[in-house]
Amino acid sequence: MRCGAGIDARMVDELAINIDPIQAGGRLTADAMKAVIAYGDGYSVCDNCRKPNRLDYITKPPIAEFHKDLASWLNMDSARVVPGARRGFQAVAHTYVKKGDPVLLTSLSHYTEFLAIEEAGGTACEIPAGDRHIVTADAAAATIEEVKKQHGRAPALAFIDHVDYQYGNVHDVQVIAQVAHQYDIPVLYNGAYTVGIMPVDGKNLGVDFVVGSGHKSMAAPAPSGVLAATAERAKEVFRTTAITGDKTGRQFGIKEPEMMGCTLMGVTLVGMMASFPHVQERVKHFDRELENAGIVAGALRSITGTTILSEFPRKHTLTRVDTTASFDTVAQTHKKRGFFLSTALNEKGVTGIIPGATRVWKYNTYGMTNAQAQYVVQVFVDIAQENGLKTG
Ligand SMILES: *Cc1c(COP(=O)(O)O)cnc(C)c1O
Repeated sequence: MRCGAGIDARMVDELAINIDPIQAGGRLTADAMKAVIAYGDGYSVCDNCRKPNRLDYITKPPIAEFHKDLASWLNMDSARVVPGARRGFQAVAHTYVKKGDPVLLTSLSHYTEFLAIEEAGGTACEIPAGDRHIVTADAAAATIEEVKKQHGRAPALAFIDHVDYQYGNVHDVQVIAQVAHQYDIPVLYNGAYTVGIMPVDGKNLGVDFVVGSGHKSMAAPAPSGVLAATAERAKEVFRTTAITGDKTGRQFGIKEPEMMGCTLMGVTLVGMMASFPHVQERVKHFDRELENAGIVAGALRSITGTTILSEFPRKHTLTRVDTTASFDTVAQTHKKRGFFLSTALNEKGVTGIIPGATRVWKYNTYGMTNAQAQYVVQVFVDIAQENGLKTG
């Protein structure tokens, strides 16, 4: 089967258990796949757009209702859909960061947070993670004091990743936000790995913004995401346009400059909406996901020489592992070198690990059944034993 234009059909998740760290939470639901086919045409959600002509006012399909539901699900006051978490960071950075302003983030922050700061002309000030790769409120307080000394003012904004992309560790956003607020610093909660995966309550966390990624964690097509704000901050980041054309005198009503008017206009939004009821349900069962994460990490640990670099027991399904003293010793003499591991995994129906990686790598068990997790355990143990590694 071919899609034309030299494009092969993609069959990855149909044929194997996919443990790719960034793909597990974004896999579409069957309902999202149907929505994608129905709303593939450009501007397809605009069929029933009426005054005041803005995406989040459209009632058919129920886009307006979806926006309200998204905000209340995150326990925030307003929400907008955005083309990826990164576009949420960009809107917030552009609103609060002026040229030369220091901005707080962490030593485990995602590159898109750095780029959002760069584009706004800010300076990136990292809170260093501790030796267990956890960012603490004490380190946040110390970094803010350091920034004040260096820049003569507190950071203009703070980006805090609840679960970081490197270790999948959980950081205490609630207490870090309290510290930041003592200095009047608005806090953006980066939920790229949490919104759509586990329950997120913005008011309880005490944050100003919640950002999520549709294609990473909400079973939605790319590029999609959500930016939610408190009522106070919504007035700032979702301010409406004030510009007037100098010849025509035209004005543009309630369009929001940070959103460039309307954002997701077809597949992305309708896919996200179709998955939403499933996503709302699945976050309630994160405990089952942690169980699977625990048994897979436990099995890897049982292979002599392997260490789990993420916090253990696992609090998230994204896990970083060091197999330098186990699988990498096999790679030294194996005829396929480092590719033996990904090849062996693929042969046994497990995919998603970087081909050639045998030292430090990441995987994500999100979305597996318990039987699939047991199977993955058996696969790792079998590959270890077939290659003369000790287990148990
Ligand atoms: C993946 C990721 C992002 C980027 O998300 P997009 O939706 O692709 O823009 C940002 N932050 C973290 C921590 C991530 O893991």
